[in-house]
Amino acid sequence: MGGATRSWRWLVARVMRVLLHWSRLCCWSRRGQLARKLRPLWRYWLLVLKSLYYNSLCDSDTVLDAVFEPIYWLVDNLTRWFGVAFVCLVVALTSSVVIIVYMCVLPLIVETYSPLRVLTHIIYGHWNLVMVTFHYYKATHTSPGNPPQERRDVPSVTMCKKCIIPKPARTHHCSVCNRCILKMDHHCPWLNNCVGHFNHRYFFCFCVYMMLGCVYCSISSFDMFVDAYNAIESTYQTPAPDYTFTERLSHKSIVYLWVLTSSVAVALGGLTLWHFILIMRGETSVERHINRKESKRLAQLGKVFRNPYHFGRVNNLKILFGVEKRSHWVTRVLLPSSHPPHGDGITWDAPPHRTDPMAI
Ligand SMILES: [Zn+2]
Ligand SMILES: [Zn+2]
Repeated sequence: MGGATRSWRWLVARVMRVLLHWSRLCCWSRRGQLARKLRPLWRYWLLVLKSLYYNSLCDSDTVLDAVFEPIYWLVDNLTRWFGVAFVCLVVALTSSVVIIVYMCVLPLIVETYSPLRVLTHIIYGHWNLVMVTFHYYKATHTSPGNPPQERRDVPSVTMCKKCIIPKPARTHHCSVCNRCILKMDHHCPWLNNCVGHFNHRYFFCFCVYMMLGCVYCSISSFDMFVDAYNAIESTYQTPAPDYTFTERLSHKSIVYLWVLTSSVAVALGGLTLWHFILIMRGETSVERHINRKESKRLAQLGKVFRNPYHFGRVNNLKILFGVEKRSHWVTRVLLPSSHPPHGDGITWDAPPHRTDPMAI
């Protein structure tokens, strides 16, 4: 009897154990089914999420660009905001020099020099002033040119990933203007404008005439600067010379004039020379870097790089100035002229100049 009870209990325990094991197995299998059902759903949403930022062109440069984006943003915005201040500074400094020349230098020239020399100074000074003012105004107010937004048949070499439009040859994106610029040279904070196809000549002429004006002012006022400097130094002697307020103001103004014009002449002289070399080579500032890299790359392959926009040094200058006949050197270079540049800035065919300069 005792053995039968024990075997019954043993049987119930055994059945219970089997049931428990089976129920556990069922539960695990349900979990497995759930996981199997959830897995494709999870994969689907992961794919949707990745598709939002996936880019097949993503490389280390893109990642670096993304990391430095806040710094670029800050620099671009500062350049944009300070652009207006820089233009005001150029206008204020130039005006101050012109006022000092009229108030202090010109009366001294008229008193001291012969009538012919006075006339020469007056004609040259005013011509230079007109050329500086004209080219600065045109450089700041002329659009450098942008690729057409609507047309899709533009002959392009690549796409702008910011504007999402085709980019013609020599066109580059300016992050300050946030637009693509035709034949972009650089973004100039002193103009608060980009230098491109349609205002390149105005920018370069402004640099040349501003530099000439500064050289002219610093050379012609050098004797006056020495006198004014000695006069200011002499005020520290005892007894101090009895200068009037107007004389003291005149001395300080002439020293300011000479220091400003001579330092601008040196700085702008270097910049103008650099741009002159680039123009002679048929390159923009942006292309200078690209062409140098390309030259090195081709040199390693034993090939020589040829700039397709270099049509000869003199021809390159003629293309920039828009000189098509000899009289244009006077009417288009030495006098203010609003003629448009050669070409539309989109296609780059051969210039309308003959290679033989004697034939023109
Ligand atoms: Zn662009
Ligand atoms: Zn720009």
